[in-house]
Amino acid sequence: MSDIVGIDLGTTNSLIGVMDSGFPILIADRDGSRLTPSVVYLPETGEPVVGAPADRMRALMPERTLYSVKRLIGRRPGESEKEDFPFAVKSLSGRMVLEVGDQLLKPEEVSSLVLKKLKVDAETSLGRAVDRAVISVPAYFNDLQRQATKRAGELAGFTTERIINEPTAAALAYGLDRLRDRSRVAVYDLGGGTFDISILELNEGIFRVLSTNGNTRLGGDDIDRELVRLLKERITGRYPELRPELDDRQFFARIREIAHTAKLRLSTEDAVQVEIPFLSGNRSFSYALTRMELEAIARPIIRRTRSHCLRSLDDAKLDPVKLDEVILVGGVTRMPIVRQFCAEVFQRLPNITQNPDEAVAVGATIQAGILSGVVQNVVLLDVTPLSLGIETFGGLMNVIIPRNTTIPCKAGEMFTNAVANQTSMQIVVLQGERELAKDNWELGRFNLEFEPVPKGIARVGVQFEIDGDGILHVLARDTRAGREKVVELSSAVDVSDEAVEKMIAESLDHAFEDMSERVWTEAVLKSNELIPAVRSALTLVGDQITSDDQRKIDLLVLEVEAALKGHDSQRLKKANAELDEGTQHLATLLIDRAMSEAARRKK
Ligand code: AMP
Repeated sequence: MSDIVGIDLGTTNSLIGVMDSGFPILIADRDGSRLTPSVVYLPETGEPVVGAPADRMRALMPERTLYSVKRLIGRRPGESEKEDFPFAVKSLSGRMVLEVGDQLLKPEEVSSLVLKKLKVDAETSLGRAVDRAVISVPAYFNDLQRQATKRAGELAGFTTERIINEPTAAALAYGLDRLRDRSRVAVYDLGGGTFDISILELNEGIFRVLSTNGNTRLGGDDIDRELVRLLKERITGRYPELRPELDDRQFFARIREIAHTAKLRLSTEDAVQVEIPFLSGNRSFSYALTRMELEAIARPIIRRTRSHCLRSLDDAKLDPVKLDEVILVGGVTRMPIVRQFCAEVFQRLPNITQNPDEAVAVGATIQAGILSGVVQNVVLLDVTPLSLGIETFGGLMNVIIPRNTTIPCKAGEMFTNAVANQTSMQIVVLQGERELAKDNWELGRFNLEFEPVPKGIARVGVQFEIDGDGILHVLARDTRAGREKVVELSSAVDVSDEAVEKMIAESLDHAFEDMSERVWTEAVLKSNELIPAVRSALTLVGDQITSDDQRKIDLLVLEVEAALKGHDSQRLKKANAELDEGTQHLATLLIDRAMSEAARRKK
C-alpha cells in the first residue's frame, strides 16, 4: 500500500509527515525547515512562491502576498469580521475570493498551493510519489470549511483520506494512548488564528472526545495586531508628524514583521530591542520592549479563552481536578503567560513535552499510519460541535444529531405531511443550538416529491449520517413509495454568518425566550389542528348533541381563537386542553358514526 502523509494545514504554518519504520517523521524542505509558512506570493509574472520566501515578501509586496487564508476557507461573504489584510478580499457570486492584480483565487486554491509545495517536499525527500493524505482542521470547522479543506487537498493532487480534528491529532502525538484507562485530558490549542479546547477520555485504547469548544477567530495574529498598535503608538509618541505615514499598508506589513519577531523572542527573553532603521527619511526608531509590556497586551486576548475552557469542562461534566493531563498545542503556548494561565484554569501544570508547533502534524501522521495499517490499536472518535436537525412545522428546530455526539454517527426520524394533498416535502437542514429554525444556520434545503395523500399520511424518514471526516450526508425517503434522495451538503448551500462560539453563547442567552417561543408555537400548532377537527365533527354529528352542549363547545372554540390573538402560552395551552376535554363525547359519536357506516356498507 502506498504512503499516506499527515498534514497540518495551519493558519500560520503548515507541516507534512510520514511514518517511517513505525515512527512519525516530519519532512524538512530543501532549506532544512519543517515549518512552511502558509503564505503564497503571486508575482506579476511567473510561478507562485510558497512558504518562507513568500513570507519575506509580506513587507515588500503586501497586496500580492496571501496569508492566514485558513480564516477565509469555506466561509461566505460577510461571515468573517473585517480583516486587516493588506490584500484584497472580495465577494463574487456569493463566494469569498482573493484578488491579486487581475487574478481571482478562491481560498482553497491558495491553500492548495501550500499543500502542493508540501507534496513536492515530501516526494523529493522520500524519492517516490505521494498522493494520499490525512489533513487536520480545527475541531470547530463546520461542514463547508471541512469540504473546502478537502477540496484544497484534491486541487493539490492528493486523495484526502481523512480530515482529522487538530486536538485529537495532538493527543496522539503526546502519546496519550499510553495513559491508564479512563484518563481525561484537556487539549489547549492556541495557534495563529484559531483557538480550540477539547476534553478527551481514553477508554480501552480508544480516544473519545467528551466535548469541544473554541473560537475560530482568536490567536497569535490578534497578539501581533495589538503589538503593532502599541509600536505605532510609541512611534507617533516620538514622531507625531509620522501619523499619516503609519497608516500606509506597506508600513503596516513591515512593522508587523518586526513585532512578530519581537514577540517570539520575548517567550524566552525578558526584553528585546526593537529597531526600525530609516523609518522615514533619516528618522530611525529604537525601543526596548519588555515581556511585561507584551504580556499586558496579550493577557486580555488569552483571557478570552477562559470561558471556552470552562464551557468545555462543563459540557464534559468534569471538574478540572478530575483531569489527568493538560496538553498544549500551537505556537502561542510557548509564551510563559499562556502556560501560567493554563495552570491556573486547569489547576495543574500543563504537559509541555512535545513541540507545540509540531504536535498536530505528528498526530496527523500517526493517523495516516493507522489508516495505512502501519500503526494499530488506536481508534479516533470525534464529536459534532453543534446540533444538526431539520426544520419542522411552525418553524421549529427538530434536532436529529445532538451537539457533542461521537462521530461517525447516524440517526433518523419519521415525519409526515402537515397539509392534505401536499406533493412534496421540503427538507431544510439546520445546524445550531437555538429552538427556532430561523435562528440556526441553514446548511441546505431540498425537496422530496411524493404522491398526494391526506394530511398526516405521508411517511418520510430523514436520516443524517456524519462520516469519519465530519461531512454530513442527508437521506430523505418516502417509505410508502420507496422514493429517496441523498444529499451531501456541498459548498452551494447557504450558511448564515454566525460563528460557532456566538451560536452557543446566544443559545444560552436566549434559552428562556427560545423555550417559551417553542411552547407557544407548539400550542398554536395544537390549536390549528384542534379547531378544524372540532368544526368538521360538529358538521357530521352536531345534530346528535344538545344545543346547550353546542353552545359550550362554541364558547371553548371562541376562547382558543381569542388566546391565539394574544401571546400567552399558558392561556392557549389551557384553552386547548379545555376544548380537547369538552369535545371528548364528539369523538365518541364520530367513532359510533364510522362504525355504523361501516356496518351499513357491509350489508
Ligand atoms: P501555529 O498556528 O501553531 O503554527 O501557531 C502560530 C502562532 O504561534 C503564531 O501566532 C506565532 O506568532 C505564534 N508563535 C510561534 N512561536 C512562538 C513563540 N515562541 N512565542 C510566542 N508565540 C509564538
